[in-house]
Amino acid sequence: MPTNIDYREVGLKVGLEIHQQLNTHTKLFCNCPVKLVDDEKLSKSVSFVRFLRATRSELGEVDTAAAFEFQRKRLYKYLAPLDASCLVELDEEPPHPLNREALITALALAISFNSFIVDEVHVMRKIVIDGSNTTGFQRTAIVALGGYIDDEEGVIGIQSIAVEEDAARKITEEANAVTYSLDRLGIPLIEISTAPDITSPIQARRVAEKIGLMLRFTGKARRGLGTIRQDLNLSISGSPKIEIKGVQKLELIPKVIEEEVRRLIGLKMIRDELRKRGVTRAEVEAQKPVDVTDILRRSSSRLVLEGIKGGGRVYAVKLPKFDGILGVELQHGRRFGTELADYAKQWAGVKGVIHSDELPGYGIDEDILKELRYALQIDSMDAFVIVVDKPEKAVRALEVVKDRCAEAIEGIPKETRAANEDGTTRYMRPQPGAARMYPETDIPPIRITVELLEEAKKLVPPTVDDKIKQFIYQYNLSFELAKQLVYSDYLTLYEELVKAYGVNPKTLATLFTTVYGELKKDGIDLDVVDDIFFHKIAIAIAHLGDVSKEDLITIATALYQKPDASVDEIVKSLSLRRIGYDELRNLVRTKINELADEIRKRGDKAFQYLMGKVMAEVRGRADGKTVAMIVREELEKFFSK
Ligand SMILES: [Zn+2]
Repeated sequence: MPTNIDYREVGLKVGLEIHQQLNTHTKLFCNCPVKLVDDEKLSKSVSFVRFLRATRSELGEVDTAAAFEFQRKRLYKYLAPLDASCLVELDEEPPHPLNREALITALALAISFNSFIVDEVHVMRKIVIDGSNTTGFQRTAIVALGGYIDDEEGVIGIQSIAVEEDAARKITEEANAVTYSLDRLGIPLIEISTAPDITSPIQARRVAEKIGLMLRFTGKARRGLGTIRQDLNLSISGSPKIEIKGVQKLELIPKVIEEEVRRLIGLKMIRDELRKRGVTRAEVEAQKPVDVTDILRRSSSRLVLEGIKGGGRVYAVKLPKFDGILGVELQHGRRFGTELADYAKQWAGVKGVIHSDELPGYGIDEDILKELRYALQIDSMDAFVIVVDKPEKAVRALEVVKDRCAEAIEGIPKETRAANEDGTTRYMRPQPGAARMYPETDIPPIRITVELLEEAKKLVPPTVDDKIKQFIYQYNLSFELAKQLVYSDYLTLYEELVKAYGVNPKTLATLFTTVYGELKKDGIDLDVVDDIFFHKIAIAIAHLGDVSKEDLITIATALYQKPDASVDEIVKSLSLRRIGYDELRNLVRTKINELADEIRKRGDKAFQYLMGKVMAEVRGRADGKTVAMIVREELEKFFSK
């Protein structure tokens, strides 16, 4: 497996596709609110089931990705929560006109990226039949084309800006059935696609973050896990463009690119090796799956024996001249054999495959192997793959494995892959073709008028650097604090609270940066609380006037433990806990008396020492600044005695 990759040398090209949910007042094509329901509400939802099939599009072709999903013959069950879905999500009522707020947000971004805005927005239907849309398609509308974003390694082109509806939320998934909730279906998304101008993993992360921040600067972006999703398009010289779906965390982007490049390099090496060995496509395709149940019945493989007991048969297929290839590691913990297993799972619905490079193992010993090799007529250079399942499924899985191996001789297949949590990727499905889009005839086109553009101009987000500068001047924050806030999830809320309650911007900034971090260390996660929590704290700050970091920690902790507490209660609890000025001075004096020897010994360095001792006792009851002042004064008196 290649380790130190020179990305320029391999010709890495990456394009990003960023999907951001919007917090508009209603969904994209109906009047339902933009919100996800909790499990309790979900359990009380109306439910219904559907089968979806691939039909020819109005242009006469069947999409390959759609055909793939169709052959899986899955049943889709939908939960329709009452206060987060209506007849539109159920596909029982035509969609309403496109949400104006979402359109204006997309236009604002188009202006800030210097994109060409279309004259008329046409909603299109994009075929998606994995069940995530009740209609069998996703509605999407291009708002602008072209444009660019600046990056320190060079300018990155923007290809398109679109508004689209989010898909239904997957609740459970089994081999033959998937359950979705309709609360997420129809939430407006903005999709921003960049050109494949990105040339390093780090640059990809940086550009994704910048675009994400600009989306947030509009004030219309939803916050929290799953509200922004990044897809990547990636290629190296001599490879097709690979699509990778669903990278949820920014930190994972560089890792995913690294792992995927490794896989592509590995596949090129495998291709070269197979060609050197002189194996042909025809040779691989000519192999027939063989029933080896009677041989494997004598193995001690639990997996195999349980499969046979459940009515399955064991089939194996020879892969001529593939010895050693299936065990080649392509990504951390993922071998070429894993790729074959992915294909077999996705196309034939089997649980997995066993391949010769991992044998003996899995309870299959050398004696069984000998018999297997004899039955399959295996030479020293050949490999084989075993599958246990119902005969038709097992045979189908081995046909898929053969096809994938035949393709390995030609090179790298064009695939849509999914990102795993550890940064590796797995095969998901073939890439959709050009036949998947056709016009949505239920929604009239929208002309982009001067009025729309004027409204959009008010929302145009600044660049990241400009936003930091703005925060430094407007709120009198340090560069570091301004930067932390601008990059934080709470940016929009912060601005809203400063405006609404006239609180000290610096104090409030501390809440979302330092205090947030310290509370997290104590196991208090503010990501899970709702906005009302922060509104209450902001009102409390406004009441109290000058509030220290320690006070903020006290207030936030108290409210977190008792979320229904009123602002008055919080303010009161703080003043009760606060230590008086005189009491504080007495406490410092007592400490100095107690620790006199140690303080004398430390001399100039006694301040830090004493400060630590006093703070440990009064944390949350007095602010650090006041304590420091008193400690300094009392130490001076002590040493001048
Ligand atoms: Zn609705």
